[in-house]
Amino acid sequence: MKAIVNATIVMRDYLIPNGTILIEGEKIKKYGKSKDVALPENCEIIDAEGLYVGPGLIDIHTHAADNKWIFEEPKATSEYMLQHGVTGVLPALYNNLNKENYLKAADDILNAYENGDFKNFVGFYMEGPYLSPNFGCERDKNVWKDAVIREEYIDIVKKVKNSAKVWCFAPEREGIEQFVQDVKEEIPNIVFAVAHSEATPQQVEKYIPYGLKIATHHTNATGTIEHYSECRGVCVDEAVNYNKEIYAELISDRMGIHVVPYMQRLVRRIKGDDRVILISDQFVCDGPVPAGFEEATDIHFDNAGEIAGSGLTLDIACGNFMVHTGCSVVDAFRFGSYNPARALNLARVGYIEEGNFANLIIVDDKFNVKKTIFKGE
Ligand SMILES: [Zn+2]
Repeated sequence: MKAIVNATIVMRDYLIPNGTILIEGEKIKKYGKSKDVALPENCEIIDAEGLYVGPGLIDIHTHAADNKWIFEEPKATSEYMLQHGVTGVLPALYNNLNKENYLKAADDILNAYENGDFKNFVGFYMEGPYLSPNFGCERDKNVWKDAVIREEYIDIVKKVKNSAKVWCFAPEREGIEQFVQDVKEEIPNIVFAVAHSEATPQQVEKYIPYGLKIATHHTNATGTIEHYSECRGVCVDEAVNYNKEIYAELISDRMGIHVVPYMQRLVRRIKGDDRVILISDQFVCDGPVPAGFEEATDIHFDNAGEIAGSGLTLDIACGNFMVHTGCSVVDAFRFGSYNPARALNLARVGYIEEGNFANLIIVDDKFNVKKTIFKGE
């Protein structure tokens, strides 16, 4: 048995100061105020020194870590993310991969998981292939701009049918409804996400009954809002803000470039504390840094000068979101662990409870990760 003592335990919407968490094997055995949790003999003690102890982070959308592609280096990236408190990862596979490379990337990641080299793998985040060709980085590598054809996508769907958790698409693509139906038939529990899209609100809402409930990097890579010259129109963003059930992913970089800090606060206010999910969306890209962005060292750019994801890990994003919105450590854990687990129906993770996996992280008041415990280790 292990015990984390001297912990400020982070619950979903409150704190337990002077707390103890007992761990048996890979599960949480008991938690509470120290005076109420007796320490068994020969118990290994971890002193949290009064810092916050909360549920491990779950990054539902990232392509890379430590500037390496997850599909190329699953072991190294997995370990790097664990050091950063990320105990659950959904590697994102993007439309810069052709069919052959989608299948290979999925195989390589699944093999790493089965070999024990990717312990914190949760499932795939399929960012594509059918997004709007007008958005996103590395547009020149997108081979999925033409018609949506079953023969081209069905092998990818079948390859990841036991492991995909989220599937992104642009609702305005011609022929997309058949694709959505086929994915749903193969993967009944799939969560759909609207991504890289110029859809109207009506086109987005059409897919809510199919299980669309995530907005991929909300406010990034979404349509035009032109209407009349002096009147604002509406786009995907408004549909996401309007429909309460949709979770909004946010990339919170240090300077607020993906989403300006005022917008981060606005989205938090509109979507509420239950519908914000922080993601890192780290990408590998070393295009030249455009003038004026020299200090944005946690952002990547492609060769066309387009923003190409971040260089963040989720712990850093949580700390940034606290700065940009003034949210508390408790809130940051909700946006980085509880909400992602709820959005994807992941059981026994995302919050502290007896019988849940002992995926726990110790952080300071700026969300610097001091220690990660994954399944009790
Ligand atoms: Zn994207």
